[in-house]
Amino acid sequence: MLIVDAHQDLAWNMLTFGRDYTCSAFETRRLEQGGEAPLRNGDTLLGWPDYQRGRVALVFSTLFVTPGHRREAWETVYYHDFSQAHALYRAQVDAYHRLADQHPEKFRLVQSRADLEALLDHWEAGEQDIIKEKEPVAEQRRSEPVHQGHPVGLVILMEGAEGVREPAELEEWWRLGVRVIGPAWAGTRFCGGTREPGPLTKEGYALLEGMAEQGFVLDVTHMDEKALMQALDFYPGRIISTHANAHALLKDPDSNRHLSERAIHGLLARQAVMGVCPLNQFLLSGWKRGERRELVPLQRLVEHIDYICQRAGDARHAGLGSDFDGGYGVQSAPYEIDTVADLCKLVPLLEERGYPEMDIAAILGGNWLSVLREVLPA
Ligand SMILES: [Zn+2]
Repeated sequence: MLIVDAHQDLAWNMLTFGRDYTCSAFETRRLEQGGEAPLRNGDTLLGWPDYQRGRVALVFSTLFVTPGHRREAWETVYYHDFSQAHALYRAQVDAYHRLADQHPEKFRLVQSRADLEALLDHWEAGEQDIIKEKEPVAEQRRSEPVHQGHPVGLVILMEGAEGVREPAELEEWWRLGVRVIGPAWAGTRFCGGTREPGPLTKEGYALLEGMAEQGFVLDVTHMDEKALMQALDFYPGRIISTHANAHALLKDPDSNRHLSERAIHGLLARQAVMGVCPLNQFLLSGWKRGERRELVPLQRLVEHIDYICQRAGDARHAGLGSDFDGGYGVQSAPYEIDTVADLCKLVPLLEERGYPEMDIAAILGGNWLSVLREVLPA
């Protein structure tokens, strides 16, 4: 079983806090102790050794830049105009290319079906070799860092599309390896977004047209419901939601951050996969950072997964989109989660809920892999 996580803001953390994701979460926490990163964003949940332990084979790694009007005073990666946005989004793409170039054994960009299959072969075929090699030298290696393992695949996702100055530029973003675009975070010139409701604009429709032409996947997370429903009608290409929960399970009537009943229904009609997000505030309304994590067991995430599966009538439409390190750290994650490796603790919880192994594998990663097999170019 492999885990695919459809949302992690790696580049934003690399450029804001200088985080080095080749290190373990434990090591990064040690290095950052007393510094800005744990204060602002919380202690990291991510690191290559943790991806290995949890068999997290692939991540949708985002390009994210804060719009100036929603920036907090300490934030350094933000924009006031679209050329600034363009440059900052571009810097994040470059950061992923550098990461993969400098550490090909640890991170790999996935831009085509061939890249995807090679990555999965590595995770599957390599397993025996690693176990075989490990046996005779297990003793001496115990205290050493992990030398062997698998590269983690990165599918680049642009969150909040204001780095795209005009639709004609989409070709360039595609060439740089971006495969998924979410037009909103806050409201953008393309459509309404979180806490800033509104429909798709004329520019939004033009963006979607250009995206479809190029073959991008549309991520509707953060789109206001009105814009989302319009996009479901209009967008001919593949649609997903990477990191939003079921609004019906939350007691937050004003929030447009999560998926309404109508949105879930529409997404299912479009065969979308929906990633659920294990941020405590998104699992227990009113929970705030600093409160007891025991109040939010991982079971609460299972409820959101189950909610989607019940509505779909199968397990083909639910997935994970953790958003780990995306504005929150371990302090705001469910009680049983210390790092990304603990996502595999969902397995026994889903078993208890009656999900067979095949369905659990689909939810933890298989459903995202099916989407990618369908949409990535040969
Ligand atoms: Zn987000």
